[in-house]
Amino acid sequence: MTAKLLDGNALAKKLRADFKARAEALAAQSTRPGLAVILVGENPASQVYVRNKVNACAEAGFHSVKLDYPADVAPAEVLAKIAELNADPAIHGILVQLPLPRQFDEDEVLEAISPEKDVDGFHAENVGALMQGNPRFLPCTPYGVMKLLEEAGGSLKGKEAVVIGRSNIVGKPMAMLLLHAGCTVTVCHSQTADLGFHTRRADILVAAVGRPRFVTGDMVKPGAVVIDVGINRLPAEQGGKLCGDVDFDSVKEVAGAITPVPGGVGPMTITMLLANTLESAERAAAK
Ligand code: NAP
Repeated sequence: MTAKLLDGNALAKKLRADFKARAEALAAQSTRPGLAVILVGENPASQVYVRNKVNACAEAGFHSVKLDYPADVAPAEVLAKIAELNADPAIHGILVQLPLPRQFDEDEVLEAISPEKDVDGFHAENVGALMQGNPRFLPCTPYGVMKLLEEAGGSLKGKEAVVIGRSNIVGKPMAMLLLHAGCTVTVCHSQTADLGFHTRRADILVAAVGRPRFVTGDMVKPGAVVIDVGINRLPAEQGGKLCGDVDFDSVKEVAGAITPVPGGVGPMTITMLLANTLESAERAAAK
């Protein structure tokens, strides 16, 4: 069996064309969706992520502001800027690129963002709203995964879903979205005894582990939908390429559908950041 490929690039392109049209319609009513991205320090991966986010905004016709701070900036300065952006009517989304340097309390920074502009969905108020099944912003990566599952087709109701990983940004919100969609959800982590027992039961398997090619074909139920959230850089001696948490070559022979890395979940994450910014702008315009 060879799995159907779930093409995140193609889906992202389709969704972004729709967002662009909606942004233009909104701008015609004098509200252009606006995103502010704060980057502290010079982490090369963060620089790439931020650049991609800002470029995606420009392509979709959104207003965007990129604010760079040196690694040794005082947290009070960044908090003051967040307060200013909270009050700025041209800004509908505020994102602080993580990780932050050690002098910062990340929770304090995330809580400083207005929940109404928290397009990453990391503010405690938005985490609570998601938990209650009444979300304001869905965290971008799990939101993108749900769109990919929609694209894969088939109802999620009653399906066995297994999420490997329990981080606040991926694993936990992912589990919650699958639960709300009617799946029976199991969350696995580093202390899970007999991981394969769980993964082999999964109709939907989401890998968010951060370990290259961790999920192998023998861990997958025939016909399962396998979503690979992982982004890992292989060591130079292994080619230095990007790879996921799923061993694509063995799993594609067993799964019913699979996301590639790159070109699967990655492009959907930025796309859903645009979705959240647009939805925030639409809500602001409707006020
Ligand atoms: P994280 O915070 O490091 O969490 C990894 C999770 O995997 C933890 O819950 C950990 O368990 C679990 N884990 C580690 N080793 C395990 C093992 N041997 N067996 C079972 N579970 C194990 O990572 P994250 O931020 O969630 O990210 C996960 C991956 O997704 C990374 O590769 C990251 O780069 C990628 N990512 C991609 C996107 C995207 O846009 N595509 C977005 C975000 C993240 P414990 O909790 O017990 O430690």
